[in-house]
Amino acid sequence: MAKKEFGFATTQIHAGTHREDNGALAFPIYATSTFVFDNVEQGAARFAGEEEGYIYSRLGNPSVTQVEEKVAALEGGEAAMATASGMGAISAALWSILEAGDEVVASDTLYGCTFALLNTDIQKFGVKVTFVDMGDPENVKKALTEKTKVVYFETPCNPTLKIVDIAAVSKMAHDCNPEIKVVVDNTFPSPYLQNPLKLGADVVVCSATKYINGHGDVIAGFVVGDAEYIMNTKMTGLKNMTGTVMSPFSAFLINRGLKTLNLRMERHCANAMKVAEFLHDHPAVDKVYYPGLPDFEGHEIAKKQMHNGFGGMLAMELKASRDEVAAAINKLQLCTLAVSLGDAETLVEHAATMTHSTYTKEELAASGISEGLVRISVGLEDVEDIIDDLKTVLDTLV
Ligand code: PLP
Repeated sequence: MAKKEFGFATTQIHAGTHREDNGALAFPIYATSTFVFDNVEQGAARFAGEEEGYIYSRLGNPSVTQVEEKVAALEGGEAAMATASGMGAISAALWSILEAGDEVVASDTLYGCTFALLNTDIQKFGVKVTFVDMGDPENVKKALTEKTKVVYFETPCNPTLKIVDIAAVSKMAHDCNPEIKVVVDNTFPSPYLQNPLKLGADVVVCSATKYINGHGDVIAGFVVGDAEYIMNTKMTGLKNMTGTVMSPFSAFLINRGLKTLNLRMERHCANAMKVAEFLHDHPAVDKVYYPGLPDFEGHEIAKKQMHNGFGGMLAMELKASRDEVAAAINKLQLCTLAVSLGDAETLVEHAATMTHSTYTKEELAASGISEGLVRISVGLEDVEDIIDDLKTVLDTLV
């Protein structure tokens, strides 16, 4: 693509596009594990990094390169690395930075498997993790030490949509030590709504399983950052430590999904706002978690750092017992009981026993994830139909 700065919609369609000699409009799926060298000298030169070119698909593949370039452009990063899952992205990103003796300051409210990685698995290798409520950036300042190498958070976070001030936390971390990597999971907003790198963060990780692909048929992830960090992460975190490589077929589907990211996100945001307003006024609902609601705690910061809307994710707490909540969810007809998010279908789940079942009861309470919290990924259906389905069930609880 020419060097001109294009808008988001043009970038999501054209960035990373390389026209093949045969003129095919859609980029092909390079279903190949390895690439043929002309001679021994060429193979050696590629391994030595003296000649550009593909070697083996764990080290790079044209279908995957295309989506890496696209996501880097959309996030405003120098480079991106595609992975086989969001957890693959997070693991590879962190393993490439950390070693025994290092410390991480992490948000106390994170996707369940990320919490498990930081709370248990990574600590087995001598990395200390301190969890703090990042709703107040001062808590980050207090937790930083000279051993801190990473500050890690999601915003809006899964599942309570808590907002972390990206610019304030990044400044605090870098004032303490410019070498600290501020790593932000940008899964919930997607690059259409939020660009952490432009706000001072160093690295973006995400589950592309969600909005980036958007069609519920792929597990994938990305790491985005400066070119040197991404090259190092490819050469260590991806190539040696995790091998979490995106398949060319997943890359093809993600490229297809990305072409409509802005349109999908606009509809997700509009639908979620209407659902949040409906829930806010329903007598069976105790609390609604949605950054777009003016009375939501992080609303003003969300308004400052998110653009184009507040996302398609929300959560609600019902004025009912845990069993009544479960019975209510079981009665939904259109809204579908499933984990994951960011798909065309509206998906509903019970965080404490599903996506966040890696937390103990005490950890759930400390992170503000109540037993009655129901998470909703508002889909692309007619919003009246989503609301009718929720209303039918919620009315039975009044
Ligand atoms: N980050 C967030 C915020 C998530 O919600 C998830 C999954 O739900 C992940 C990371 C992990 O992504 P994946 O399931 O693609 O490994």
